Amino acid sequence: MTAGVIPAITEPTVIAATPRAGAVSAPLATADRVAELLAGRRAVALTGAGLSTDSGIPDYRGPGSPPRSPMTFDEFVSGSRAQQRYWARSHIGWQRMGLAQPNRGHLALATLERSGVVTDLITQNVDGLHRQAGSRAVIELHGRIDEVICLGCASISSRHELHDRLSALNPDFGRSRSAMTAPDGDAELAETDGFALAECLRCPGPLKPHVVFFGENVPRARVDRCYRAVDDAEALLVAGSSLTVMSGLRFVRHAARRGIPIVIVNRGITRGDPVATVRVDAGCSETLTSLADLLG
Ligand SMILES: [Zn+2]
Repeated sequence: MTAGVIPAITEPTVIAATPRAGAVSAPLATADRVAELLAGRRAVALTGAGLSTDSGIPDYRGPGSPPRSPMTFDEFVSGSRAQQRYWARSHIGWQRMGLAQPNRGHLALATLERSGVVTDLITQNVDGLHRQAGSRAVIELHGRIDEVICLGCASISSRHELHDRLSALNPDFGRSRSAMTAPDGDAELAETDGFALAECLRCPGPLKPHVVFFGENVPRARVDRCYRAVDDAEALLVAGSSLTVMSGLRFVRHAARRGIPIVIVNRGITRGDPVATVRVDAGCSETLTSLADLLG
């Protein structure tokens, strides 16, 4: 089928892209149904933490997650004490995150991109696993944990390089500590006293991971790129996000306004359910693998 041509669909309850009046949620569907819906359409994918749980990175919003409050932007910029706490915990978390490998869900999305089904991939994850899996048209909505930005001169540098500098400054730190890694590369760790911070190499400015913190806005140009991707798409495939924050939800609502089919693959309910066409209440790895088998 020619790209850009929307195929005739024979199942009206499945293709309704806008919710019926009074509907509170979209009908449940299987991977077969979703494949039917996406066949011949160019889709934009929107992924969240649920996609990376099978890579060992916990989803702090998912069912059964430990209670946790990530550092806000205001807290981070409040001074060196907060930054010391952040970087000490993150130093441990980074080592764990560095070991994470793409899972079947990431690989399936890369396959779907190669076969022309997924044309753009917006991810709320900062772990870099989509690129590692081979996806190329990736927009990292919330930034990248493998990059560092200076709050003084705005220069971007490598997290690997900073990690080496922090390790040299804090040779004994984290040797025998056990910590749990969170999706943003942070870790739960009580004792962060005495952790030495590293400054920017170009100016005395403080360094921040190049990720969007809670309470911080996604850069406008990046948001616009995402809207354009949704504008160019003929379907939206959400995977592994409960769409709790407006940051991602706005693109789902945008797709709903455009009237394109919206598929949500997630364990449990999401804030996008009322505008979804269908939802699959199952894990991303198995569902996306089935989709890639059917469409790839
Ligand atoms: Zn600087």
